[in-house]
Amino acid sequence: MTTTEKNENKQSDDPLGSGAVETCGKVDDEPPSRLNQTKKFRLKYFPKVSDQDWNDWHWQFKNRVTSVAEIARFFHLSAEEYRDMDSVSAVFPLSATPYYLSLIDFDNVNDPVKLQLMPDTAELCFDAHCCSDPLGEEHSSVVPGLVHRYPDRVVMVLTDICPVLCRHCTRKREWKNGGWVHTQAEIDAMLAYIRQNPVIRDVIISGGDPLTLSTSRLESVLSALRSVPHVEIIRIGTRYPVVLPQRIDDELCNMLSKYGPIWLNTHYNHPNEITEESRRACDRLVRAGVPVNNQSVLLKGINDSVAIQKSLCHKLLMSKVRPYYLFQCDNVQGTEHFHTTIETGVGIIEGLRGYTSGLAVPNYVIDLPGGGGKITVQPDYVLDKQADEYIIRNYKGDIIRFKNPVGHKVLGNNVNTVNVKTAAKINGEANANRAVIRS
Ligand code: SF4
Repeated sequence: MTTTEKNENKQSDDPLGSGAVETCGKVDDEPPSRLNQTKKFRLKYFPKVSDQDWNDWHWQFKNRVTSVAEIARFFHLSAEEYRDMDSVSAVFPLSATPYYLSLIDFDNVNDPVKLQLMPDTAELCFDAHCCSDPLGEEHSSVVPGLVHRYPDRVVMVLTDICPVLCRHCTRKREWKNGGWVHTQAEIDAMLAYIRQNPVIRDVIISGGDPLTLSTSRLESVLSALRSVPHVEIIRIGTRYPVVLPQRIDDELCNMLSKYGPIWLNTHYNHPNEITEESRRACDRLVRAGVPVNNQSVLLKGINDSVAIQKSLCHKLLMSKVRPYYLFQCDNVQGTEHFHTTIETGVGIIEGLRGYTSGLAVPNYVIDLPGGGGKITVQPDYVLDKQADEYIIRNYKGDIIRFKNPVGHKVLGNNVNTVNVKTAAKINGEANANRAVIRS
C-alpha cells in the first residue's frame, strides 16, 4: 500500500450420506428465539448499554472485541487455550462486533458463528498447496486499489477494515498487518482511471468492507462514479448485513437510493446468521432499490451439508436475498482446516437441484488459482451426447432423451464450434483479462 491513513430436514437421498449432515450441530430455529438469545447475551455482558447504543452501528464498531483478553470474558479458556489463541491472533488478528458475538450458542463447542471468528491453531499449519494470495490479486492493480482485468469492469478497494475478521477470509494477507483506508488522492486517481476508460461499465466497490467508511465519504465516491456516463452499474461487496446489520440505517439507504442501479453482494454462511435485525437490514436495502445477493463460502464443519445449505438458502429467500454463489474455499494459507472436497460442493448442489426451487440453488464456483477466473461446477446430468440428441438424467435419476436441433447457429456469436484448439486460445485470452470480484 503506497499511502495509507491509519486509523432437512435431511432427505433420504442426501447424496452426501448421513455422515456429512449436521457436522456443526443443530440448524437453529426461527429468529424470535435468537432474539431472546441476543437479549440474554446483552443482559449478561452489556447490561448497562441502552437500546439506542446497541442499535447504533458506531457503538457496535467502537466496542468490537479485538483481543484474546477481551474474548476470554465470553468463553472459558484454559491457560493453554489462551496462550494458543494469543499466538494465532498475533499472526491473524481477531475482531468481532458485540452483535455478532450475541449469535453464538455458548453451549455448542462447534457453534458456526464462533468457528468463523475465533482464532484457531489450525490457522498456523500451512499446507504446501496454499499460499497467501492464490488468486494472484497482488501486482494486478492499474492504480493503487483499482483492479482492471476483465474488459468491462473494475474492482475498487477502498479499505481493508472489516468489523469482523473472518478466519476463512481470502484476503487475510491484507488485514493481518493492520487496517488502512485509501486516501482521497488515491481514490481520485482510481476515479480518473475509470473516467478515462469508456469500456468500463461496471464498478465493484469492495474491501475489506467499504461500508466501514462513513456514509458521506461513501456518497462522495458513488456520486463521482454516477457522474461518469459510461458507468452503468455499481456493485458493493459487504458483510455488514450479517455481522453488523445496524449499519444499514435510513441515512445509508436514502443515500444509496440516489445512485442506483446499485447491487449489493453480501456473505451469509449459515442460517443462524439470519436474524430479525439482519432481515430488517436486507428489507431496507431492497426498499431503497438495492437488490441483495448472497455469496457464501463452503466451510468444513460450518455449512458443508445439504441440510444446512438448504436451510440457509430458504431463509435467504425469505429475507429477499438471492443465493448467488457458493464458493469453494480458496487455497489461502491459514484457512486449510475449512477446506472441503469438490465432491462435497457438487453433492450439495445435487441435493438441492430439483428438491427445492431453482431460486434457492446457488452457483457452486471455484475461483481458479493464479487469476484463472471463476468457473461453475455442476453435477453431471448429461450422460451422453450423440449427433442429434443428448442423453440426460434428471434429479430423480430418470434417463431422458432430448432432441438436439443439429445445425442451429447461435445468432451474434462467432464461435459456433469450440474445438480443443480454439478453447485453448480462448482460455489464454481470458487469463489475461480476469478480475476478482469478491466481498
Ligand atoms: S473481506 Fe469479507 S471475508 Fe474477509 S474479513 Fe472482511 S468481511 Fe470477512
